[in-house]
Amino acid sequence: MTLLLAGGAVVTSLDPVAMTRADVLVRDGRIVGLGPVDAPDAELIDCSGCLVIPGNVCAHHHLYSALARGMPYRLEPPESFVQVLQRVWWRLDRALDEEAVWLSAWSGGADALLAGTTTIVDHHASPNAIAGSLDGIAEALGDLGARSVLCYEVTDRDGPERATAGLEENLRFCKGGFPLALGMVGAHASFTLSTETLAGCVEVARDADAGIHIHVAEDEADERDALARFGVRVVERLAEAGALGPRSLLAHCVHVDEREIALIRQTGAWVAHNARSNMNNRVGRAPIGALGPTVALGTDGIDGDLFAESRTAFWRAREADPSVGPSWILERMAASARFAAAVYEEPLLGTIRPSAPADLVVLAYDPPTPVTAENLAGHWAFGLSARHVRDVLVHGDVVVRKRRLTRVDEPEVRARCRGAAAELWRRMDALEAHPFDPEGSG
Ligand SMILES: [Zn+2]
Repeated sequence: MTLLLAGGAVVTSLDPVAMTRADVLVRDGRIVGLGPVDAPDAELIDCSGCLVIPGNVCAHHHLYSALARGMPYRLEPPESFVQVLQRVWWRLDRALDEEAVWLSAWSGGADALLAGTTTIVDHHASPNAIAGSLDGIAEALGDLGARSVLCYEVTDRDGPERATAGLEENLRFCKGGFPLALGMVGAHASFTLSTETLAGCVEVARDADAGIHIHVAEDEADERDALARFGVRVVERLAEAGALGPRSLLAHCVHVDEREIALIRQTGAWVAHNARSNMNNRVGRAPIGALGPTVALGTDGIDGDLFAESRTAFWRAREADPSVGPSWILERMAASARFAAAVYEEPLLGTIRPSAPADLVVLAYDPPTPVTAENLAGHWAFGLSARHVRDVLVHGDVVVRKRRLTRVDEPEVRARCRGAAAELWRRMDALEAHPFDPEGSG
């Protein structure tokens, strides 16, 4: 099928910003024409008065948390980050079954697409439904038409059998089978990984020819544990284990010190910054300026809305450093897309240029001031939001049209989600706080 997105203001690149008024011709998943295009046989999407931008990328998500929205909570309120895990997320993940995993992925994926996020980099945990869980997520996202990078969170906190099952799930999934869902090797965090299990992750990453996606120094507890157990800091431990490289994706990096920052920059590892989650969990400020050009943006399971995430991240960054300007947002959005481009070996992913994969978003944005390449960042910081998302294309398929998902019956599956959520909450309610405690947590 050939599509012609006609008459829009097209943002062909976010970093450096480049804009042109042009038609975009899409065929076989790719952009095949840009400029005044004459294609009488193409299906027309009128984009006049609209902005056309590259699809947003969420560089760190937890789709499994989608059915946690509004759930009840009966334990003592957590006071530390580790207690948040023990009392909330490590109870939720153990309550997930196969159906809840599928519906969570579907629900989170639907929200992401409707917010203009075309690629989701996910980090998944369901200790009582490990085998095949990544296939379930890939199928749910495939039904919606989203692009993704998936992994299973390997950890020792639920015992050696589940650690092994997690490694096997990563290896199995990385062998492929889903053109729009590629694999990484997921690892929870240094503080829940033994030497042997971390080595297992490195080995699987080597066998699968994939990068490692891991939480790093999200809370000071991760650093305390690494120092207590191994006498080194988290990033040093990962480097010594062979887990740090240009394909690694390190989520958070809030508490990394100068030496760790230097190691990250030397190896070219990617960093997923999750500003809203860091604020919500009160874990501190990530040294994002020092971490450099590989800092991408994630939502850490809060939602799939990178407009909301990037704006909050900008204000949070500006609060700490007045030299941060709106262009910082577009640089981060572009870095997130560069990460996805690297995983997919599609260097033009994240741009709207001839031969790039056609992942793009049409924004019905009628601003009170002119939009140009020079001031797009200002519009992003102070004007654009998910409410402007009208149409979304992933790999050339129209997956959102006129603000509706095109390939699925949204009300029907949302109703199924609510039914499954009630059961999930009941199973979770029967679980007590997770007993796993990191070294040095007091
Ligand atoms: Zn996370």
